[in-house]
Amino acid sequence: MRVAMFSTKPYDRRSFEEAGTAGLDFRWLEARLTRETVSLAEGSPAVCLFVNDEADASVIASLASGGTRLIALRCAGFNNVDLAAAEAHGVSVVRVPAYSPHAVAEFTVGLLLALVRRIHKAYTRTRENNFSLDGLLGFDLHGRTVGVIGTGRIGALVARIMRTGFGCHVLAHDVRRAAALEEIGVVYASRAELLANADIITLHCPLTPETHYLLDRQSLALLRPGAIVVNTSRGALIDTEAAIDALKTGQLGGLAIDVYEQEADLFFEDLSAEIIQDDALQRLLMFPNVLVTGHQAFFTREALSAIASTTLANIRDFAAGRPLVNTVTAASVKG
Ligand code: NAD
Repeated sequence: MRVAMFSTKPYDRRSFEEAGTAGLDFRWLEARLTRETVSLAEGSPAVCLFVNDEADASVIASLASGGTRLIALRCAGFNNVDLAAAEAHGVSVVRVPAYSPHAVAEFTVGLLLALVRRIHKAYTRTRENNFSLDGLLGFDLHGRTVGVIGTGRIGALVARIMRTGFGCHVLAHDVRRAAALEEIGVVYASRAELLANADIITLHCPLTPETHYLLDRQSLALLRPGAIVVNTSRGALIDTEAAIDALKTGQLGGLAIDVYEQEADLFFEDLSAEIIQDDALQRLLMFPNVLVTGHQAFFTREALSAIASTTLANIRDFAAGRPLVNTVTAASVKG
C-alpha cells in the first residue's frame, strides 16, 4: 500500500526505516500538507501527517477524491484534522496516543529551569569567557506553587516531578481528576483559582474550541503579578498578542514556549538566512525573559522510535482490515 508521508525530515525517514517499512510503499515528501500540496497524495490510500500538516475540510475532500482512506497521524494531538469532514468522506484517522510522555514532561521541566535560572544565558555568556553573574539571578522552585492545566499523560508526569522532585505545591485543573495525583498532595482547583494562585503555570491540555486562547487578555490579568507560563502543548492555547502586552507590563514574569500559534510556516525549518515576517514571534524573541524552542519537546530517540512503530502498526492494521485501535473520531473526542 502506498503511503504519502508529508513533512518528512531525514530523522523521520530513518526512524521509520529502522522500525521496518516492508510491504508498504512510502513516498517521503518534504512538503507540508496544505491545499497547495495535497495533489502529492493522489493515488495514496494512506497519508502520514505531523503536527503542522493541515487536514482541513477542503484538504480532506481532495484527499478523498484522490483515493486516500486513512490519515495516520504520527503525533498525539489531532487539532489539525477536521474529524467531522474525515468521517463524512469515509477517511479513517489514527494517531499515536502516547509515544513518550516522559520526553515532553522532562523537556517542560528543562525549559522551566532554564528560564528561571537563566541557564541558556549562562551558556552563551561563558563561551565568551564572561563569568559574571550579573543578570542571572533566579529563584528556588522548592516551595513555589505550580499550576498544571491538563493532568493527562504529560501533565501528570510534570505534576509528579514538580511535587515529589522539587517539593512544590501543585495546583491542578482538568475536566477529570487523577486520584493518584491527589494521593501525592496535588490539589485540584478551578481554572480561575489556579491562575490566581500559581507562581508558575504549565499547559498540558489539548487544543480544542474550549481551550483555544485559554490564556487570553482576561485570564492573564488574573495571574499573580510576575507569574511564569510554560507551554509545551499547542500554541493557540495562548493569545500571543495578549501575552506580549502582559510581558511588557510585567504582569507576566516569564514565558517559555515550545509551541507557537503561528508556528506552521516556521518551525522545523532552518530560516536563519530569511527575513521573518512574523512580528509577534520576533518581538517574543527580543524579551530577556522569554525562551522559545521550535516544537522540540517530543524529540527523543525513544519517542521517534515509538512514533514509527505505532504508526506502522496503525497503517498495517488498516491495510489488513483489522480494527483500528488508535482511531480518533469526532464522537470519541466529545465522549
Ligand atoms: P492526554 O490526552 O493524556 O491529556 C490531556 C488532558 O487534558 C486530559 O487529562 C484531559 O482531560 C485534559 N483536558 C481536556 N480538556 C481540558 C480543559 N478544557 N481544561 C483542562 N484540562 C483539559 O494528552 P497528553 O499526551 O498529556 O498530551 C497533552 C498535549 O501535549 C497534547 O494535546 C499535545 O497537544 C501536546 N503535545 C506536545 C508535544 C510537543 O512536542 N511539544 C508532544 C506531544 C504532545
